[in-house]
Amino acid sequence: MNFVARHFTGTLLVVIVALGTLLLLAESSLRSDIEEQTRENLMREARLAVRALPRDSLNWQNAVMVLHEETGLRFTVIDSSGRVRAESDVAPQSVPGIENHSDRPEVQAALRDGIGSARRRSATVGQLDIYVAVRAGPGVVRVATALSRVDAIVSTTERSLFGAALLALVVAAALSLLAGRHLTQPITAITQAARAIAQGQPPRFPHSSIPDIEALIGAVRDMHEQLARRFEELRSERSESAALVAAMVEGVIATDARGRIITANPAARRLLGYGMSQPLPDLPQLFRTKQARDAVQAIIDGESVVERQIELDGAAVLLSGRPLPGGETLLVLHDVSELRRLETVRRDFVANVSHELKTPLTAIQGFAETLLGGALEDPKHSQRFLEIIREHAMRLGRLTDDLLKLSRIEAGKHEPQLHLVRVPSLVGSVVETSRFKAEPRNISLTVAIPEDIPPIESDADWLAEVLQNLIDNAIQYTSSGGAIRVWASTGEDEVSIGVTDNGIGIPLESQGRIFERFYRVDAARSREVGGTGLGLAIAKHLVESLGGRIELESEAGKGSTFTIVLPRQPQLHPRPVSVA
Ligand code: ADP
Repeated sequence: MNFVARHFTGTLLVVIVALGTLLLLAESSLRSDIEEQTRENLMREARLAVRALPRDSLNWQNAVMVLHEETGLRFTVIDSSGRVRAESDVAPQSVPGIENHSDRPEVQAALRDGIGSARRRSATVGQLDIYVAVRAGPGVVRVATALSRVDAIVSTTERSLFGAALLALVVAAALSLLAGRHLTQPITAITQAARAIAQGQPPRFPHSSIPDIEALIGAVRDMHEQLARRFEELRSERSESAALVAAMVEGVIATDARGRIITANPAARRLLGYGMSQPLPDLPQLFRTKQARDAVQAIIDGESVVERQIELDGAAVLLSGRPLPGGETLLVLHDVSELRRLETVRRDFVANVSHELKTPLTAIQGFAETLLGGALEDPKHSQRFLEIIREHAMRLGRLTDDLLKLSRIEAGKHEPQLHLVRVPSLVGSVVETSRFKAEPRNISLTVAIPEDIPPIESDADWLAEVLQNLIDNAIQYTSSGGAIRVWASTGEDEVSIGVTDNGIGIPLESQGRIFERFYRVDAARSREVGGTGLGLAIAKHLVESLGGRIELESEAGKGSTFTIVLPRQPQLHPRPVSVA
């Protein structure tokens, strides 16, 4: 039963009980009032009758008949022995046959106290009567009337009262309905608002003139505002953490208690080889290698795994993970391939440096010992040996210079000085200084720079150093009679300066490593021509520090083209150089 029905039924019951009680009380009080009134009237009539009663008892019967006719009441004259001497309601001849009335309470009271009354069914006339008796001389005069008159008055009054009660009931019912609606309308509206909140839609709050309900509406509104604020905070916290997880270099994977993946950030997808929108299998099937699956199984079984090394598509990855209290799991994948590569580079570098230093040092030591061992005496040999020693010492010098330069660039201590550089004049001056090296080897050195090439913002000294290195290499690795062309071209945002030779070229398999430190295609030949194996590494670092790059196109036996590609407007902070 809803609120309105309950309110309606409750009110109706209360009104019915109240009206019923009221009717009962009214009836009994009305009845006793009218009876009392009737009794008083009878008393008055009885006294009047005593006075109107003739002296001669033979006329009493007549007198009571007259009184009856005049008043409609029943008159009885009873002597002190209880014998009825006159009775208005029976024929005169029947009077002597009326039973003795001495036992009637009103008669006894009147004989004793002067007045008495009673109500009962009459033995004489057989109806419910009210009697009042008054002492008159030695006997009593009794006046009676039927109570049915009282009943008639009471029931007439009751009927009107009942009609009024019925009307009151209808009015109460209507008012109860209205009040119920008035009460429930805002409550229904609050219920709808609460449902809207639950469904995440904007709620509409009602107003109520009833203070208690208005207070309830206010409380729900406050609750909604609080909740909305909390949700907003939670949402922004969530998106912050989602953005954080998405931006993490480490792969992060979170699963629910059933092993289904609920979060996998872009780094995790990349490491696992899945696209951003590709569906991921459940955790136990996520990894393909046994190593990784064992680690995952251990986490599912409730163990924490710390930095276990696994292979993912050739990448070295450290897998860490732990189960969460609710049975969920959290995995972190840390790609250490670059670290491993750098470790290898560092190890190779140390080995290479040692090797590169050892060769000239061994030569210096050897020739110095030979000289000390007596070769000094021989001026012809000693001259030659000392020249070799000087050559190796110079080589050591070049090597340490290049190493220092590399380490300064890597440490960020070698900063470019940016100015407007005019490419034709820069290329012209470098080519001029190289001519004396090309000419003895009968190598032609030509320049093809368009006049309209725009000036670029760069470091002229660094560019000259790189270009010098590329031209020197081209001269070194081109046979006598070859040709070298230095050229430039302009793109939309870039300017390219290239050095093309028709020399020995670089085999395909070496092209990817040519910029590594100490990498040479032919180490013996490189050393022979005085190279340190660091020239291209330095060139690459310098160009990258200027915001550019070096490209290589080459074919073994046919020649090579090294191209310096530079932005016309370099960024203020050149990107960090890559370690190679
Ligand atoms: P190096 O001091 O040995 O010249 P670089 O770093 O300048 O050291 O060059 C690395 C290697 O790249 C060289 O040893 C050589 O094998 C190869 N190389 C460089 N430039 C050329 C070129 N123009 N033609 C053929 N090979 C080249």
